[in-house]
Amino acid sequence: MKKDSLIERIAVKLKIIPDLSRREINLKNHGILRKYPSPENWHNHTELDAQAWPKRIEKKYSLIPTTCFNCESACGLMAYVDKETGKVSKFEGNPHHPGSRGRNCAKGPATINQINDTERILFPLRRKGDRGSGEWERISWEEALDDIASKIRSSLKTGAKDKVVYHVGRPGHEGYTNRVLKAWGVDGHNSHTNICSAGARTGYALWHKHDRPSPDHANAKVILLTSSHLETGHYFNPHAQRILEGMMDGAKLIVIDPRLSNTAAMADHWLPTWPGSEPALFLAWAKIILEKKLYDREFIENWVNWDEWMKAEHPKEKCEFDRFIELLLIEYEKYTPEYAASECRIPVEQVIEVGEVVASAGKRLCTHVWRAAAIGNLGGWQVSRTLHFLNVLTGSVGTEGGTAPNSWSKFKPELFDEPPDPDGWNELHFPPEYTLSHFEMSHILPHMIKEGRGKMDVYFTRVFNPVWTYPDGFTWIEMLQNKEALGCHIALTPTWNETAFFADYVLPMGHASERHDINSYATSAGKWVAFRQPVLREFSRREGKDVEFTHETNPGEVWEEDEFWIELSWKIDDGTMGIREHFMSPYRENEKITIDEYYK
Ligand code: SF4
Repeated sequence: MKKDSLIERIAVKLKIIPDLSRREINLKNHGILRKYPSPENWHNHTELDAQAWPKRIEKKYSLIPTTCFNCESACGLMAYVDKETGKVSKFEGNPHHPGSRGRNCAKGPATINQINDTERILFPLRRKGDRGSGEWERISWEEALDDIASKIRSSLKTGAKDKVVYHVGRPGHEGYTNRVLKAWGVDGHNSHTNICSAGARTGYALWHKHDRPSPDHANAKVILLTSSHLETGHYFNPHAQRILEGMMDGAKLIVIDPRLSNTAAMADHWLPTWPGSEPALFLAWAKIILEKKLYDREFIENWVNWDEWMKAEHPKEKCEFDRFIELLLIEYEKYTPEYAASECRIPVEQVIEVGEVVASAGKRLCTHVWRAAAIGNLGGWQVSRTLHFLNVLTGSVGTEGGTAPNSWSKFKPELFDEPPDPDGWNELHFPPEYTLSHFEMSHILPHMIKEGRGKMDVYFTRVFNPVWTYPDGFTWIEMLQNKEALGCHIALTPTWNETAFFADYVLPMGHASERHDINSYATSAGKWVAFRQPVLREFSRREGKDVEFTHETNPGEVWEEDEFWIELSWKIDDGTMGIREHFMSPYRENEKITIDEYYK
């Protein structure tokens, strides 16, 4: 068996990946219990066929790593490709993935159900009747690309920078589509973020620009969750395993959740706060930290612009740190435990008892909020802002066992070509009256269209189903059926959904194991990068077969966005638009880039 490399040994020591060195346990007369196949055997893995039991029939597999696409955690998956049939038999976890470390939630291995879904869309479709009539015709990828490219070309040739739009529900890769849109010269990116994490992000961004937390649960003394992160929160599987590790090492778990969720049930302290009242609680705890002098003086003095606050708010006072603390206590004097208890509708004794636990955590206070209270309430951004205040006071920002800015844990790929930013502004995404919007105001898009504030020539939705998931789905239907305001709608989706039903083109895109993406997320206190790959394409490569496009190996003609954007961009440019220059191979002069070259 191959020995672990130095990097693997260090990663094991730091508990970034599990110790895989003891892959086999000899059970004396009962055979060998295998922990996990080692990478050098991944293309020649043998297992007994469970269906053939009690006969011992061997099956040969090629094991191909990829990543899950059923939430943003992008946990590692290992596809078991049956070498006889060339089909994926099952998915299991990949212990070499530093984020998930071999563990998945039920949705990861359930990818097998998605790829075998008998009702999935297998071929490109074009609408025949009216939008929403449910009449479709099958077309080729070539036809789809030609049609759509000519519409985009016409729009771009008018000089408009805001009429070609890509609206994404589930992002999956780092910077790919932004690069494409910039190559087209449009300000065309829209997201779902304003019904998701924008509230929490705003609160974090106001502290230090980085707009997400990266918690080090495993090394914390106190874990404070404003959410239900053991079972439903963002990044919950990678978080849950580290929260449990922290608890096994003695960390106290505090859960703020109006519901007795599974996470709340595991907590040492569960505070069922009245929704939206959480900032009152956090400021009461901030006051306890200040009063008990448990704040980290050195950290605050060096990393907080307290002196600017003094000059702005108390210009007549001496600009001294001790005076700053006194004035801060006056600033927050209203936030007594009694006030917090009454706002949050929890016992005052609990506010004090748990506040003392938080105050005692020092540099190992690990806090987290993602959506939860920070998006469901007016002023929700104050939830993350006041929560992070506790980290700032205790100096637990970027410490072992504390909470770090997310970008410390994020890998940013350097792209082979970076087109310039568009020379234009999309007011349907960032309307001028919402000067503080932290992400696109996507939730009011159909309302602005209804008011006649803009039009879209070409509108892509990608894994995005506002008709179903937004509270005002019928207004989205109105927009999608309005041919005056919406020239052409293309749904890029692996499955049918209510929004795709109103599209002009429905283009089948791959599930987790049928596409390329780069993933890197703040799932723990560490930077990792994972590669999502179409496993049957990789299987073909291992078997020595050439593949030009991923749809040749996927079910039906299911494609992937990455190659689709390259081909579409190439077709849009009639040779005069300067788009093709951003899709040239860095390895072959004047040739179109291939997806293998993109990720080389
Ligand atoms: S937690 Fe991991 S396995 Fe579960 S859906 Fe998310 S990425 Fe997939």
